[in-house]
Amino acid sequence: MEYPTAHFIFIAYNTNFHMNINFKVKKALVRVDFNVPLDKQYKITDDTRIREALPTIRHILDQGGSCILMSHLGRPLEKRNADGSINREKFTLKHLVAHLRRKLKTKVHFADDCIGKQAVKKAAALLPGEVLLLENTRFYPEEEQGDVVFAEKLAKLGDIYVNDAFGTAHRAHASTTVVAQFFDKNHKCFGMLMDREIANANKVMKNPAKPVTCVVGGAKVSDKMLLLERFLDFADNIIVGGAMAYTFMLAKKGTVGNSLVEADRVSTAKEFLKKAKAANVKVLLPNDSICAERFAADADTQVCLSNQIPDGCMGLDIGPSAARTYARTIRQSQTIIWNGPMGVFEMPAFAEGTKIVAKAVAAATRKGAFSMVGGGDSVAAVNQLKLAKKVSFVSTGGGAMLEYLEGKELPGIHAINS
Ligand code: AMP
Repeated sequence: MEYPTAHFIFIAYNTNFHMNINFKVKKALVRVDFNVPLDKQYKITDDTRIREALPTIRHILDQGGSCILMSHLGRPLEKRNADGSINREKFTLKHLVAHLRRKLKTKVHFADDCIGKQAVKKAAALLPGEVLLLENTRFYPEEEQGDVVFAEKLAKLGDIYVNDAFGTAHRAHASTTVVAQFFDKNHKCFGMLMDREIANANKVMKNPAKPVTCVVGGAKVSDKMLLLERFLDFADNIIVGGAMAYTFMLAKKGTVGNSLVEADRVSTAKEFLKKAKAANVKVLLPNDSICAERFAADADTQVCLSNQIPDGCMGLDIGPSAARTYARTIRQSQTIIWNGPMGVFEMPAFAEGTKIVAKAVAAATRKGAFSMVGGGDSVAAVNQLKLAKKVSFVSTGGGAMLEYLEGKELPGIHAINS
């Protein structure tokens, strides 16, 4: 089956489907994202992903239904034992059972194969209010291959399919997408976490309060070009930071010393600036940068004009003047979307630009703006600065959110809606 990946289309999905389904005495097959980090003793070190799935599970159990939970954990097929066998001890979801029992205060059974006789038997015996956790779906290559036969075996375990794993919604895997074709429209829905992610992304893309400012940073122009182009459709301001700013500097005939650039993207950057001008979207580039001769936390730093970085020096953060300008624009905005840090925020010497931007986003939110932080490193930055609660929404979606904002139709979402 082919899944559409057309760019630059916006589809306003009807969310809150879960409210229309009655789970009483039904067995809900729920795809969750329990890909949590574990320490060497297999203790959970951060249970955020489990906690985020709890409202959906509780909703189903409270209605008198039961839950059959399926998830992946890590990459067991890639990280095999030396003899080539799967490291079941490391990647088993059994490590999560005790924690789930404590959180849900109900019976949580475990099937040590996600398909097969034992899973079928345990699913059939499941009583209302109880939970069955299936073993790691990625123990089977068929999961990531999106195998239809494997998906059908999973589908047979439940009456209703619920997808609450937004972080994997951009993958056409068996348990995230293909399985949905075995349920009709009245027997499949998004979970609450997925609903929230979609609703918030839609909120910023569809009739957002103006002015809209999109802040894009990070390492590579190539990773973010689709996102930048998409932002031209609805942004008033696009703020560019991170290493990608230096490819734009080259496009404007600046010199950037040893800064990280993508020489093969200079013409794309030039094109983008032209398109932005035609669309009347203001693109803000950093007029100054914090530079160093070494990519190191203890390197000596100096402030340079971003288009005149001397040979041997590299820009590793936006400079103080750029940070001030960016913060002012952000504070004057009503809608803010942020993806990617302004510099090498992992090193304190180059974290100031990201910090100032994060604080401005929090300040704008306090004054009533809607702010969304999405995609990998900017989420890490907001968490590191303890500002996650001071923005309107922090997406857990990573790559999925990036693709959704780019305007792609995610296979996991399409599968529920078709
Ligand atoms: P991304 O995953 O594309 O959002 O990129 C995030 C990474 O970009 C982070 O690890 C940052 O350290 C890195 N980064 C941001 N600004 C720069 C820069 N000026 N030079 C090199 N790396 C940078």
